[in-house]
Amino acid sequence: MISAVLPTYNRAPMAFTHGKGCWLTAEDGTRYLDLGSGIAVNALGHCPPELVETITEQAQKLWHVSNVYRIPEQEHLADLLVENTFADTAFFTNSGTEAAELAIKMARKYHYDLGTPREEIIAFDGAFHGRSTGAIAAAGSEKMTKGYGPLMPGFKQLPFGDHEALKTAISDKTCAVIIEPIQGEGGIRTMPDACLKGLRDLCDQHGALLIFDEVQCGMGRTGRLFAHEWAGVAPDIMMVAKGIGGGFPLGAVLATEKAAKGMTAGTHGSTYGGNPLGCAVGAKVVEIITDPAFLSEVNRKAALFRQGLEGLVAAHPKVFDSVRGQGLMLGLKCVAPNTDVVKAGYGQNLLTVAASDNVIRLLPALNIPDVDIAEALKRLDATATAVEAP
Ligand SMILES: *Cc1c(COP(=O)(O)O)cnc(C)c1O
Repeated sequence: MISAVLPTYNRAPMAFTHGKGCWLTAEDGTRYLDLGSGIAVNALGHCPPELVETITEQAQKLWHVSNVYRIPEQEHLADLLVENTFADTAFFTNSGTEAAELAIKMARKYHYDLGTPREEIIAFDGAFHGRSTGAIAAAGSEKMTKGYGPLMPGFKQLPFGDHEALKTAISDKTCAVIIEPIQGEGGIRTMPDACLKGLRDLCDQHGALLIFDEVQCGMGRTGRLFAHEWAGVAPDIMMVAKGIGGGFPLGAVLATEKAAKGMTAGTHGSTYGGNPLGCAVGAKVVEIITDPAFLSEVNRKAALFRQGLEGLVAAHPKVFDSVRGQGLMLGLKCVAPNTDVVKAGYGQNLLTVAASDNVIRLLPALNIPDVDIAEALKRLDATATAVEAP
């Protein structure tokens, strides 16, 4: 008999009742060190006091009003994002998938309004942009699309990081290129800075819009507010979600004025998107993460963690192959099957997340205390030892 909850997930058996910082407490009282953070969602850890205060305060004032009205909390969050990024404007959603939908619509509308409609959007192998019909068509993998056809037309996938293939594929018919500066689900695969620059140039040459999907790699995860800042190139449109709500469902599309030109009154909307509760929390998260002192701490912690991980790789060559990623968006490329490593981690009360390319992801809270980094390394060491045991 089918379970009451639609069985679309391969779930681990633990269930948690409480969280504090980087720690989760299971129903049986066992405490787990959480290096997954709800897949880069709990950017400030579980139940951070500042956000508990913000959400409680806002919950006593106003939760939801329709976008029929002005929403000052939404305007405040938009102002913060515009002040701190390439963007001139922001639209709020409840998820990354919804952000992907708008990014695609915005790009198509831009060209349509120029009087030269363009259909083709270039995406990359290993990409993940969400689970809507549009987002799965963009990513194109069989795993996500099988059985759901006909897919939304107009997408083309290229090998990740193959500049020559891109140069051949892009043309004056290309509507947009969509890419994660660091692939998350794809296995913490980083697009080199030079490739992002080259991509920007190609888009400019052909009048195509550049869409960055920073749903996972954004919001301070790499040690800058957004990952693309490291490369010194800006997109025309960017998708944000996960970390921006600190655990509250919130997403956004940020865009330049030029790219957003077609999005006039009535062309897009959302019932929940940009509600006062989510935006109050989001604004607090953005205020905290944009503090240069906070980001420099992320980089210091990341260097500390990474150094320890390099040591682990050297100590356990039969389990780990290498460390990858940037900031606190880290991956351990495994030699042993990554799912075995994740499972062995559960045995050490340690939570990590598997990704493609035989990688386990380490996405701790951005404010992870140094002692928890040390504890994480200890438990990863014990995890590797357990995997090695005959
Ligand atoms: C998680 C993710 C999404 C989808 O976000 P949802 O909130 O699950 O809809 C899109 N893009 C990337 C890069 C992601 O990691």
